[in-house]
Amino acid sequence: MGDEKVERDQRAERIAEFIEPLRIEPGTRVRLAKDFDPGYKAGISKKKDGVELLRTGVELLADYQRRLAAQDTYGVLLCLQALDAAGKDGTIRHVMSGVNPQGVRVSSFKVPSDEELGHDFLWRYTRELPRRGEIGIFNRSHYEEVLVVRVHPENLLRQKLPDAARGPDVWERRYREINDWERHLSDNGFRIVKLFLNLSKEEQRSRFLKRIDVPERNWKFSSADIRERAHWDDYQRAFSQMLSETSTPWAPWYVVPADRKWFARVCAAAVLAHTLIDIDPRYPHVGAAARRELAEAERELKAEKKKHR
Ligand code: AMP
Ligand code: MG
Repeated sequence: MGDEKVERDQRAERIAEFIEPLRIEPGTRVRLAKDFDPGYKAGISKKKDGVELLRTGVELLADYQRRLAAQDTYGVLLCLQALDAAGKDGTIRHVMSGVNPQGVRVSSFKVPSDEELGHDFLWRYTRELPRRGEIGIFNRSHYEEVLVVRVHPENLLRQKLPDAARGPDVWERRYREINDWERHLSDNGFRIVKLFLNLSKEEQRSRFLKRIDVPERNWKFSSADIRERAHWDDYQRAFSQMLSETSTPWAPWYVVPADRKWFARVCAAAVLAHTLIDIDPRYPHVGAAARRELAEAERELKAEKKKHR
């Protein structure tokens, strides 16, 4: 028992150390190109070692997710942001491969519908939030509201805002509103995990080429992807500012090096595991009265078996 606890604590410490370099310290000014290397792999030289690590992480997540659901007190929201072809879908598929589908809800956010544009900008994200006991995954998230909407201002026009709400301070205000919203959620038992998958321009080029070259991947490619790529520098600036303004003590950002898919998946699993370890969800305590009920039920069931034999 004592040994088990020591082992658990050591594992938790290893995970915390592993993800520390990825975390944006609240209040720091981020310049993506200078501060983060998309090719970083934390000294893990072989993909095989990474795959083994991921397997351990996936098992750990499955165990914690069962406890999170049984305790039914906390919920977890995982937000994934990235440029096209950075590996959001594959990360979700691999990292969540071991968990009970009933405990997970994945929401993908596309261009907003007319109905969505008829509401405030956070409305559609609020509707998809996880319940207590669930892990919610946002494949793209409310952060699109300070990314694609910022890089392409015509998106802001479509939001039908009153003049006073789309002045030059609109981005500063959105950062604040997003931080406040996340704080409200976290104060009420919903932990927010934010991952930015950081892909290099060269690696995006090679993944796009593969999507064009391999027939089974053609569906993943659209000419809009090339048009977005032309705004690469604008996106890097918008991401840098988002990371600087919205990494908070209650919901910090993690920058995940994404040029190696296996490494990005290991990082995503580690950050999620770290959050669950911190919540430390427990199976509900079975009191004396409930134990008596269990014993009574057991007696009845056993007696029934004898009668039928
Ligand atoms: P994908 O995730 O590749 O299927 O593409 C979804 C598209 O929806 C991307 O091009 C996003 O930029 C776009 N999108 C997501 N959220 C918003 C938003 N709030 N406003 C405008 N476009 C968005
Ligand atoms: Mg796409």
